[in-house]
Parts: sequence; C-alpha cells; structure tokens
Amino acid sequence: MQNYITHLETLCIHAGKEKNEHGALVTPLCQSSTFIFDNAEQGAARFAGEEKGYIYTRLGNPTTRELELKIAALEGMQDAAATATGMGAVAASTMAFLQQGDHLIASKAIYGCSFALFNHMFARYGIEVSFVDMTDHAAIAAARKANTKMLFVETPINPNLVVVDLSFIGQFCQQHGLISVVDNTFMTPLLQQPAKFGIDIIIHSATKYLNGHGDVVAGLIVSDSETVNTIKMTTLKDMGATISPHDAWLITRGLKTLSVRIERHCQNAQKVAEFLESHPAIDKVFYPGLASHSGHKFIGSQMKAAGGVIAFELKANLEDSRFFINQCKLFSLAVSLGDAESLIQHPASMTHSPYTAEEREMAGISDGLIRVSVGLEHADDLIADLEQALTKMKQQQ
Ligand SMILES: *Cc1c(COP(=O)(O)O)cnc(C)c1O
Repeated sequence: MQNYITHLETLCIHAGKEKNEHGALVTPLCQSSTFIFDNAEQGAARFAGEEKGYIYTRLGNPTTRELELKIAALEGMQDAAATATGMGAVAASTMAFLQQGDHLIASKAIYGCSFALFNHMFARYGIEVSFVDMTDHAAIAAARKANTKMLFVETPINPNLVVVDLSFIGQFCQQHGLISVVDNTFMTPLLQQPAKFGIDIIIHSATKYLNGHGDVVAGLIVSDSETVNTIKMTTLKDMGATISPHDAWLITRGLKTLSVRIERHCQNAQKVAEFLESHPAIDKVFYPGLASHSGHKFIGSQMKAAGGVIAFELKANLEDSRFFINQCKLFSLAVSLGDAESLIQHPASMTHSPYTAEEREMAGISDGLIRVSVGLEHADDLIADLEQALTKMKQQQ
C-alpha cells in the first residue's frame, strides 16, 4: 500500500495505520498502562530488546505508535517519539544530547518556555547558551565555539513571524558537525519539511495544528531511527514526558483533516492580514504571506504557504491595545494556536512573559505586539469582528 502513497494528504490519513484484530476502520484506542507477557522468558526477552513487543506505556504503546509513524512519514524522516507536551519534546530532544560544558546556539526569539528552559534551567546544569538573531548568518557563525553541540530554531518565529533560512541552517550545522533542531509547530509538515534542508531533529507542539481541535496538549520529536531511539531510551524513558494513549488517538484523528484545515487556515489568514494591512489604525502587520514581509521570499521555496498566525501592532498605546483585545467577540482571548476557533493574545504579557522587558526588546517582541491565530470560521466574519473592535478603540482614543 505504501507504494501508492505519493502525497502528504494521503499520508495524513493512511500512514502508520496497521490492520487491527477486529478490522475496525479506526484503530481502536489501546488505553492500557501495561502489557501481559506470555511467560517469564518473553518478559526477559522484551526487556533485553531481543523480542519486539510492548512492555509498559511509558516505553511505548500501539496507539501512540500509529501517531509516531504517521508524523515520521509526513516529515519524510525515519522515526518519531510522541511526548506529553510540546515542551516535553523540546526538553527531551535537547537534553538527550547536551551535557555540562556543552554550548547551544538558540534563536533569540523563540517560544517563551523554550527560552525559559534554555536561559534558566540549562544554566543550572552547566550548559552554555548563546541567543542569536537567526537571520544574521554572520552572527550565527560568530557565536559558534569549540564546545558548540547544537543549534535550535523556530521558523516562522513565535510570535513575530520572522522567517529563518533553513537551507543555511542545515548546511551550517552539517559543515560544523552540530545537531540542528527545528520547531516546526507553526508550519506543520504540510507547509514545510525541515528534513529537506538537512535538519536533524524536528519537534512539534502537537497541541496546535496537528491536533487542531484545542482539546489536547502533546508534542512530537521526529528524526532518524538512532536519534529517536536515544531520546526514547534516555530523556523519555527516565524523565517520563510520554504521551497518554488517549491524547495520541485524538491527534491521529485530528491529522486526518490536517490538509483541508491548513488550506483554510492559510486562506483565511491571508484575507485577515490583507485587511489589517489596509486599516488606518494598524501600524505594522507581520505575516509572511504579505509582499511587505521580510520572509515573503521563502514562500514557494522553503514553505508552501504562510500559515495561520499573524502578528500586528496598533497605532495605540498598551492600554488602548488591551481595550481593542477586550472588544473582540469571535476571536477568543486565549493563548495557543492552530485551533478551529480564532484566538487573540498579547505575547509580552502572556506567551512571552518568561522574557524580561530587556530580553523581549533584544528579541524584537514589542509591548504593542498582538498575535492572532486565524481559525476556520468565515473570513468575512473574522474581519467584521476585528473591524468593530478597531472602531470602538478609535472612538475611545
Ligand atoms: C505551544 C508551543 C510550544 C510548546 O508546546 P506545548 O504543547 O504548549 O508544551 C513550543 N513551540 C511552539 C512554537 C509553540 O507554539
């Protein structure tokens, strides 16, 4: 069957799926913490890795396995590990390879908790981190030291949508023997496959587009078999951020509709971004789908489309920006992204509050920045909602 599958849309539905004993169309949920051995010899053989088969859900589970094989196929890589949260994926994939005395080069603007992990936790374990502007190739080269082991980026960057050149990152890391890690949450493999650029490890917050329905927190790590096995046998097995089989089952369900959802997210976001750019109360719009955006040139080469997240700044102070957010009715005031529902949030006081004010300034996250995740509602209704909130803000200014 695998031979007939040549498109990602088909892989979303069929990859990783195995025939089950009842012939059920949907793979039954295997909600079991442990697995019975036929005899003591079999138990010993499974623990010794001499016989394939399940032992205990922290070490692996058939429902989780379907999800892992699906995302590996979608990213065009050999294997994957599912984790309890996106942060579980960030921590397990980095800490499996970094140790005291190692140096990490990380993007200066990244997801707030990834920043907190690298900036605060890693310091406690003697891992050095340099936060670098990943669009400045000379700065990346200058940051590399004898003990540099890994490079970690996101693209487009959360929350300011700056696009990082993955072909440069992949080549730079290969040339210098660094492990490259890309957080592909904002794009999903349908819009961007970092493996094509030689990236070693791809991580996802599956909480976002991959699940897509706002009812799960989970993560995924995708890489070659050896790397995934190392992560599974160290940071995942012994630190334990493994996924619940029920959550894995829900994400597998969500993935079946990923291609149609992503298409609509992108179409809606393009319309909303164009509306925002044309509105006199808006100062700047950050969306790679706009010709005015610095990342626009990567569309078609690195990324198929611009995704569903937009950031913008109002011609207003912080107080008026908050007033605007409070007037939105269809856009729910909530962090997260990639859900059917449109969401709006204020990075400086919410998702990126692990940064201090100076760190935010260094990372290019202004106090006036607003981030929206454009959902699957009708674009005209979303635009009408933003328009009425902008009008109310102008009236009270
Ligand atoms: C949400 C998010 C994370 C963290 O994922 P959780 O599932 O919330 O732990 C990491 N990276 C990016 C880009 C995210 O948007």
